[in-house]
Amino acid sequence: MNTKTGAILVLSGPSGAGKSSLISKIINQIGTTYFSISTTTRAMRAGEINGVHYHFVTVEEFKKEIEEEMFLEYAVVHGNYYGTSLGPVKKALKEGKLVIFDIDVQGHDAVMHRLSDITTSVFVTTPSLEELKKRLYARCTDSDDIINKRLEMAIREVQRISEYEYLVVNDNLDEAAQVLVSIAKAARMKIPTQTINEFVQVWTQQ
Ligand code: ADP
Ligand code: 5GP
Repeated sequence: MNTKTGAILVLSGPSGAGKSSLISKIINQIGTTYFSISTTTRAMRAGEINGVHYHFVTVEEFKKEIEEEMFLEYAVVHGNYYGTSLGPVKKALKEGKLVIFDIDVQGHDAVMHRLSDITTSVFVTTPSLEELKKRLYARCTDSDDIINKRLEMAIREVQRISEYEYLVVNDNLDEAAQVLVSIAKAARMKIPTQTINEFVQVWTQQ
């Protein structure tokens, strides 16, 4: 069967849970991937590079892209716009790649509505709220006010874990990374409904 259709792996979870750390750890162990670089209106953090971590744009630029229907999905998170551009995702899927999204619960909902048959979803979190707080402070990238907003948001996001197929508790980074490698490998094996229908049609033709 032709499985060169690509697949999607959605990672969601509170800011500070370790999604970026996990992705960097597993990226060389799961075959050809495309990590979707989102577009955002939030301010760049120290150490972030435009076009690598995000495409940083103004609110006006973001709204123009919404009007031009450039996004697969977009949402307002922590008061800023974040969106996934459709073009590069389509291209990567055509090339048979595993497309990885680090998006919030609203983005996950939107992707599931449009592409559930090729999507695998994972919620990543810390063992506790207290540990999340520690990591956000240790990361030293956000002010107290922003950290408090992110913690409030985390409590709301965690209520929606049951909407995901997998939960990865990122306690020990290496162990969590190994679990994620297994999920990512399985995610690649998902076959789109259309491909299955075609297979059945050909298989039953004699
Ligand atoms: P996210 O991408 O989910 O916002 P990060 O990957 O930036 O989270 O991780 C947040 C902080 O926690 C970083 O400083 C990172 O080094 C640290 N971190 C990630 N995973 C672990 C872990 N398992 N144990 C301790 N610290 C961790
Ligand atoms: P951060 O500002 O910490 O990088 O990300 C904040 C939140 O925005 C995280 O929950 C992250 O998953 C989410 N996010 C990042 N990019 C996108 C996107 O393109 N779409 C959606 N819906 N959420 C995103």
